[in-house]
Amino acid sequence: MLNVEMYQAVKAEVESANATLVAVTKRQPLEVIQALYDLGQRDFGENRVPELVEKHAALPKDIRWHFIGHLQRNKVKAIAPFIHLIHSGDSARLILEIAKEARKNDRTISVLLQFHIAQEASKYGLSPTQPAAILRELKLDELSGKVNLVGVMGMATYTELDEDIAEEFALLRETFETLKETTSLGEIAAFKEISMGMSGDYQIALQQGSTMVRVGSLLYQ
Ligand SMILES: *Cc1c(COP(=O)(O)O)cnc(C)c1O
Repeated sequence: MLNVEMYQAVKAEVESANATLVAVTKRQPLEVIQALYDLGQRDFGENRVPELVEKHAALPKDIRWHFIGHLQRNKVKAIAPFIHLIHSGDSARLILEIAKEARKNDRTISVLLQFHIAQEASKYGLSPTQPAAILRELKLDELSGKVNLVGVMGMATYTELDEDIAEEFALLRETFETLKETTSLGEIAAFKEISMGMSGDYQIALQQGSTMVRVGSLLYQ
């Protein structure tokens, strides 16, 4: 069930840091999303393609849908017609597939480069030690008009140690800055998003320069 007071408190906190709140609604029913929508929320995050497709079909069309989970290439087609931002651009092959589907749909799709900043081995993402490596496989002018790379995304280790989390978020911010200063991404005005922070660590993320937090479970407590 939606906790309206919690939602409003988190939203105010996020907005006072000039960041965007993406309300993560995975496994939440349509009524909860509609209730958030009625409170003015427009950015929603989902991590499974079939669930997202169903929700997109049933809900108001001015919702900005964010895809936040690992995306398989054969699933891009289903979300390409409507997706607002894909947070999980974690390989050149995936991004090229997104470009292909964007062209078919005659639209530009915004994508974040997902970096692996956590200690945990299981999480997807590009290596922050060689942040520009992917750009050697992706010709930015060939993506132009199809995929807009608009920033970076990362997830911190699931831990109680705030300093460790802060260090990982700082690494993501540095990775973003390195890309901006040393690659042609710096010439793209829209390359400005740092998607980091979830229910347990969004305040640390905001302190470390997050521009977009993805908060789910906290809103339903
Ligand atoms: C589920 C999820 C979130 C939200 O997590 P909460 O802890 O519920 O806030 C954020 N980002 C990603 C990638 C997720 O899968």
